[in-house]
Amino acid sequence: MAAAQPQSVQTRSAHPAQTDVVVVGAGFSGLYLLHKLRGLGLTVKVFEQGGDVGGTWYWNRYPGARCDVESMQYSFSFDDDLQQSWDWSERYAPQPEILSYASHVAERYDLRRDITFNTRVESADFDEHSNRWTVKISDSASIVAQHVVLATGCLSNARSPDFKGLKDFKGKVYHTGSWPHEPVDFTGLRVGVIGTGSSAIQSIPLIAEQAEQLTVFQRTANFSVPARNAKLTDAERQKFRDNYAEIRRVAREEMKNGIYQPVPDRGALDDPEDTRREKYQARWTSGGLTFMGVYNNLGLDLSANDTAAGFIRDKIAAIVEDPETARLLQPNSHPVGTKRICVDTDYYATFNRPNVKLVDIKTHPIEEILPHAVRSGGKDYEMDALVLATGFDAMTGSVAKIDIRGRHGQALNDKWAEGPRTYLGLMSAGFPNLFIITGPGSPSVLSNMLVSIEQHVDWITDCLASMRKRGAGTIEATRAAEDKWVDHVNEVASATLYPQANSWYMGANVPGKPRIFMPYIGGVGVYRKICDEVAAKGYEGFEMGAGAASNATAIAS
Ligand code: NAP
Repeated sequence: MAAAQPQSVQTRSAHPAQTDVVVVGAGFSGLYLLHKLRGLGLTVKVFEQGGDVGGTWYWNRYPGARCDVESMQYSFSFDDDLQQSWDWSERYAPQPEILSYASHVAERYDLRRDITFNTRVESADFDEHSNRWTVKISDSASIVAQHVVLATGCLSNARSPDFKGLKDFKGKVYHTGSWPHEPVDFTGLRVGVIGTGSSAIQSIPLIAEQAEQLTVFQRTANFSVPARNAKLTDAERQKFRDNYAEIRRVAREEMKNGIYQPVPDRGALDDPEDTRREKYQARWTSGGLTFMGVYNNLGLDLSANDTAAGFIRDKIAAIVEDPETARLLQPNSHPVGTKRICVDTDYYATFNRPNVKLVDIKTHPIEEILPHAVRSGGKDYEMDALVLATGFDAMTGSVAKIDIRGRHGQALNDKWAEGPRTYLGLMSAGFPNLFIITGPGSPSVLSNMLVSIEQHVDWITDCLASMRKRGAGTIEATRAAEDKWVDHVNEVASATLYPQANSWYMGANVPGKPRIFMPYIGGVGVYRKICDEVAAKGYEGFEMGAGAASNATAIAS
C-alpha cells in the first residue's frame, strides 16, 4: 500500500496537522532517517533551522574546515550504489565537498520535499491521553506526531563566551561554528582568533596567509597531528570500493571508534623506546587520527600515554622556532587524546610566520574586549576582526534549546539538570516515543559519526517496525534500565583517562554545565552488540504500550 501523503503544517492551532514522525534536523542523521522511515511507509516531517541540508557542515564554513575522518569512511554505507559512485576528491574532503555530498544524498532520494527549512522547533509536549507529541515550530504553527526524533547533532550549538565588551567591538566578529555564507576576506586586517581547538587549528594557517597580523589567544594548548591531506587517486578510491563490504563491516563491528584501521596488539610500554618512537614516527608520517591507535593502552594508562604525549611535545619543539612560543604550544594539562586530538595542516609551523603571535590567556585571561582591541594581561592587542573558535555547547546544547515536556509535564531540561540521563543514548525515561540520534550515553562523538548515525537510524526504524507489528502505540525506556545504563557509562569512562581532561566531552567548556562524561566509551562494536541484544530480547529495558493507533497507512514487513 502506498504511504499516506504528509499534510502541510497548519498555521492555525484549531486542528494541527498530523504526522507519524517529526524529525528535528536535516544533517546526515535527519537525511538518512527520513529515507528509512519512508521505507516503512510512515509519514514524516523534518524541520531544519538552516537554509538547506548538511547540519554541522552547513554552519561550519570557516577557512580550512574539513573532516578529520577519511572521506572514504566518513560517508554513508547504506547504499552500495551511492558509495561506489561518489568520487571524494581528497583524503579529507573540504567542507564545501561534504556539503555537496549531503545535497547529492537529498536529491538522490528525493528528500527535500519533506523538509521544512529555516524553521526552528521551539517545543514538544507529550499528551498522555492521546499518546501524541504536539510540536511547536518557529512560525507559531504546530504539528501533532506519534514520534519525535531529535537528529539535532552533537556539535551544532555554537557557543560564544560572554567576554566583557564583546558587543561593542567595532570590527567584524565571526564564530567558526556559524560562519557567513559569503567569502570572508582578511587581507590587510589585524585578526584575533580566540581558542585553539580543532576549528581554530584548521583555520589559523589559512587566516595567517591572508591577514596582515594574526594574534592567537590560547587558553589550553591542544595536541595536534598532521593530516597529510592529499588528492585521492583513482587507485586509492578503487581499493576502498573493491573492499567496501568488509571495510564497513570491520569498522562497525570490530573497531572502537568506527574507523577501519590496524588494531594494536600491545601497550606502549611493551616496546623498547626506540621501537616506540619508530612506531609513533610512522603514524606521524602517515598522518591522521589513527595516531592514537598505535598502542592499545594510550587511553587507559598514564605512563603509556606520556610516551605519546612526549613524542608530540618533542615534535612541537622541533617545528616551532621561538622556544617560548614552542613551550606555550606544548600541551601539559591533559593526557593526549582525552580532548579530541586535532588534525592539522601546518598548524605549528604557522607560528614561525612573522605575522603570527601567540598570547597565553591562561596566565593572563582576556579582561575585556575594547572597540578596537583585546585586553589581556593589562596589554591591548589592536584588532580589526575577531574569530571566536570557542566551540559548542556539545551533545546536549541543541536538545536543551527545545522545551521538551514528557509525562506529567516534566521538562527534559529539569530531568537533565544534573547531567543527561538516557538508556543507550536513545531514549530518556518519562519521554515516550522520543528518540535521540547519537545522544549522550552512546558512542557518538567518540566515533566516526556516520557509523554511529547509521546504527542509530537502523535501530530506531527497526524498533518502529516492530512496534507496528505488535500493535504497540508507545515505547519508553524504564527508569531501572536507564539508571543501570547511566551507571555503566560512568563506570566505563572512569576506567579510562578521559575524565581527567576539562573537555567538552565532560561539559567542562560551558560554565555551570554539569560535569559528566557524556559519550559512551565502550566502543561502537560493543555498543552495537548491546543494542542488537536489547532488540532481540523484545526491547529489554523498554516498555511498549498499546497507545493510540498509528497515523501510518502501511508498514513494511
Ligand atoms: P573546542 O574544541 O571546544 O575548542 C574551543 C576552544 O576555545 C578551546 O581552545 C577553548 O579553550 C577555547 N575557549 C572556549 N571558551 C573560552 C573562553 N571563555 N576564553 C578563552 N578560550 C576559550 O571547539 P572546536 O574547535 O570548535 O571543536 C569542537 C569539536 O568539533 C572538536 O573537538 C571536533 O570533535 C569537532 N570538529 C571537528 C573537525 C573536523 O572534523 N576536522 C573540525 C572542527 C571541529 P579551553 O580548551 O581552555 O576550554
